[in-house]
This record gives sequence, C-alpha cells and structure tokens, in this order.
Amino acid sequence: MIPDTSRVPGQEWLKGAIDGHIHACPHINARRLDALEAVRQAAAAGMRAIGLMDNFANSAGLAALAMRELGHLGVEVWGGLIMEPPAGGVSAQAVRIALDYGYGGPSGGARFLSFPTHHTRHTARQEGRPVAYIEQCFHVPERGPLPDPLPEIIDLAAERDVVLNLGHLSDSELVRLAEEAAARGVRRLLVPANHAGIDAIEALAGLGAFLEFSFFFVSHATQVGLTHVDSERHRIAAAPVEMLVDRIRAAPPSRVILSSDSGSALLPAPVESLRCFLMLLNAAGLHHEEFMPMVHDNPARLFRAG
Ligand SMILES: [Zn+2]
Repeated sequence: MIPDTSRVPGQEWLKGAIDGHIHACPHINARRLDALEAVRQAAAAGMRAIGLMDNFANSAGLAALAMRELGHLGVEVWGGLIMEPPAGGVSAQAVRIALDYGYGGPSGGARFLSFPTHHTRHTARQEGRPVAYIEQCFHVPERGPLPDPLPEIIDLAAERDVVLNLGHLSDSELVRLAEEAAARGVRRLLVPANHAGIDAIEALAGLGAFLEFSFFFVSHATQVGLTHVDSERHRIAAAPVEMLVDRIRAAPPSRVILSSDSGSALLPAPVESLRCFLMLLNAAGLHHEEFMPMVHDNPARLFRAG
C-alpha cells in the first residue's frame, strides 16, 4: 500500500520528474526496495522515468524486464553498464553486449555506459586502499594517447548515441576524458560532479557535458562506512548543501541534472529522497524555477526519455 502523499510539501515537483540514478538492483548490502517497487513508487508519484544503476552488473536487462511487467504504469525505465570489474570491467566486449541486452524492441539495451565508479585510482586512494589494489584500478593518463580499449568504448558510445558517464575520477582526469569523448563525437556526456571543483565544472560544461548532483552526498549515508563494492566499509565524503548550490550555479542551468542516488536501506526510498533533495536545495536558496528543469527537461534531453 503506497501512502497518500498528495499534501506533502514538494511532492508536486515530482510530477513528470526523472531520477536517472537509483540503486534498487540487487546489491551486497541491504536495499530499501527492489527495482520493480522503485517503478511502482515512481508511478504513484507521477514521475516520468527512472534509471537503474548497478555497480555489479549491467542493469539494462532488469530495466527491460521492468518495462515489460510495469510499462503500463507509464514510467519509463532504463539501465546501463557501469564498467566495474564484477560487471566485466572496462571492456569493449562487455559494452557491446550491454548495448543490445534486453528482450528486443525499443526498451532494451543500455541507455548509458559509465566508466568505473569505485574501482578508480582516484576513489581507491581516497579509500586508503593498498598500493597493489590502487595500481590495478582504472585511471586516465595525463598525456599521450588514451590506452585501449578506451577509444573503442568512446566510439561505441558515440555511434549508438548513448550517455557516457565519466565515473568517479579526479578533476583533471574528468576534463581530459571529456575532451577526448567530445572530440570523438560523444554528444551525451555526464559527469558526477558532487565533489568537482568550480574550474572543472566550468570546463566540463564548456565541453558540452551534463553535471550531476545527488541527494546521497548531502544525506546521513555519508556519516557511516558502507560496503560499496566488496566487504570493506568506506565513508563517502559529504558535500555541504551550500557548496552543492555553488557548484550547481557554476554550470549553465541547462546542463545540470539532479538525482537521488538512493536505494540503500539507510536512506528514504528514491522518490522521497528526491523530494527531500529538492526541498533542501530550495531551502538553501536554489529557486523552484531554477531546479525544475534539472529534474525534468535536462534529464529527458540527456537520456532521450520518450
Ligand atoms: Zn550511485
């Protein structure tokens, strides 16, 4: 039974909204809800679409199944591939499979490809992992040609016109990778920018990238260590909401998307997380007229929502 939320402040902002970053796929720690329940709750809130993200597996199949079973509810669901080792790693073969993975028809196939989120040298260093672990993590060299299979993966993203999410990298790596991707014809670049510097945000926006900011980073989930990709617990640094508003305002409003990044059992369900995020941003001075395109038109344009 989904409770009546029609009189909850901010609930109306969710009508027609898109949350492209939900972790309701199976995980190694407890989830607040499963992927099908996430679709039902989004439908009850009148949302337009959700994107399923999974650090362990290509989520395009689960999204295709959700569309088959719950498409009649009117919420579009998409998935994609985060190139973490359990999902096949940074591999052109894993990418090719993800791009067609589903049951056939228009709702199948990855809508996004993401470079690693946790198995990057940048993240591993912040987590204080051993040198041998850090060494085998993904990174972008400062100069010289991009190593294989990066060019092939970038070309596949361009050819299939899917979103290319640059993953969790340092500012200089993000800018270098965005430059290469833009030069190779990728038109749908997305950068998680919760911790990005203002200079990097401006440079990335100048290259045509979309910048994403998520509820997770202002939430209480940043106050404890969580298992993210293995048995180790790591805390993800919080981003104070005032800093987030400054970063949001450093990018052109048409290039920002907001998401919940929720699904952990610690957090409210994604619909409520997104509402809380909008309420918080609003309370911190981001006006309703400013943030509405960031959960409606901008993600619709980026992800080609139907
Ligand atoms: Zn996430």
